[in-house]
Amino acid sequence: MADRSALTKKIFLAMVLGLLLGSFTHYLSLDDSNFIIQFGVNGIIDLGGQIFIVTLKLLVVPLVFVSLACGASNLSGGTSLGRIGFKTLGLYLFTTAAAITLALIVANLINPGLGMSLASDTIFVGKESPPLKQVFLEIFPSNPVKAMAEGNMLQVIVFAILVGVAISKSGEHGARLRDGLNDWNEVIMRLVLMLMSVAPLGVFCLMTTVFANMGFSGILDLAKYFSNVVLVLILHFVITYFLLLRILAGLSPLGFFRDFYPVMAYAFSTSSSSATLPITLETLEKKMGIKKEVASFTAPLGATINMDGTAIMQGVATVFIAQAYSVDIGLGGYMMVILTATMASIGTAGVPGVGLITLALVLQQVGLPVEGIALIIGVDRLLDMLRTAINVGGDATVAAIVAKSEGKLEY
Ligand code: ASP
Repeated sequence: MADRSALTKKIFLAMVLGLLLGSFTHYLSLDDSNFIIQFGVNGIIDLGGQIFIVTLKLLVVPLVFVSLACGASNLSGGTSLGRIGFKTLGLYLFTTAAAITLALIVANLINPGLGMSLASDTIFVGKESPPLKQVFLEIFPSNPVKAMAEGNMLQVIVFAILVGVAISKSGEHGARLRDGLNDWNEVIMRLVLMLMSVAPLGVFCLMTTVFANMGFSGILDLAKYFSNVVLVLILHFVITYFLLLRILAGLSPLGFFRDFYPVMAYAFSTSSSSATLPITLETLEKKMGIKKEVASFTAPLGATINMDGTAIMQGVATVFIAQAYSVDIGLGGYMMVILTATMASIGTAGVPGVGLITLALVLQQVGLPVEGIALIIGVDRLLDMLRTAINVGGDATVAAIVAKSEGKLEY
């Protein structure tokens, strides 16, 4: 595994270098038409980062379909699939609800929005949320090709499970197909590894572009809100995840995350749980010893519906906006926030910035002005990076616990 740890070091170095170079360029306050900005940062460096993300995304649908269909076909019967599904969903909901509760408690102690000035020149237009019935209906694909083409992960997951179960019930025909899918799985995993070997470069490009274009002045204005979100992210990480890993999986949390943190670094630099998914899956299976049957189910589902970091941002943002507008939403309001933020985090796609859009849903539920989102937009880019890393860390934690409980962890 010497290769892996060398790669990990390189990725870390690339992150730091990108951060320094990007911040330095930003500090120079060069004009957009300046050669360094036009052809360097927003030209070739941005191109490198975009190609890296696009290639990661390219692997998501084939990888999820193949590995989940394989995984489902390898499970002995419908009951174990149902059990794994039940545990996974339960844990995802639990960790998200815990995250938002923690966010509300800490935010009420810190009071990030007290004394805020409401002046903001950014207008935020909220989106109507679809009715719940529609949300459920959309989990089921009517056309698997369309679902794949659109990258609709929940639909791809449902289709892959159905195919996997049918394979396991189709005797020798199914067996042949399973062997073929297993081969495909290995080939796609190889592709992920190939991509990982150039990851330091990709990460460097992404970090440089983001930090070159992002100012830190917004963070100073919103220091209380920003540090409140960061504090809760850290608390949730070291309290909830560490305790769960220790108690429910009997693992050393520090050791676990020492091995898993490169994936969180990808999540940080891409701000996308979805784009990170190929690397999450590869790492869970090949490095963390989680069997494919469990990893291929828990990781894609987590990247789609489990967003603890996002829920934390939404909790703190709700308190912040309520205080900024001097609205008291009361205990009932907080209960509502826990419920809707958990639902909103399920509905948040694992791509950059979506958490801010689904925040509108939470605010609407408790009667807060959606325009309040404009107050926090300025610092959301960096928070998005941080919360995405936590989102992915939460997926790994639940995957390890479920795997352990099923006797499918060899870590
Ligand atoms: N960027 C986050 C993710 O991909 C979602 C969000 O909070 O905006 O997990």
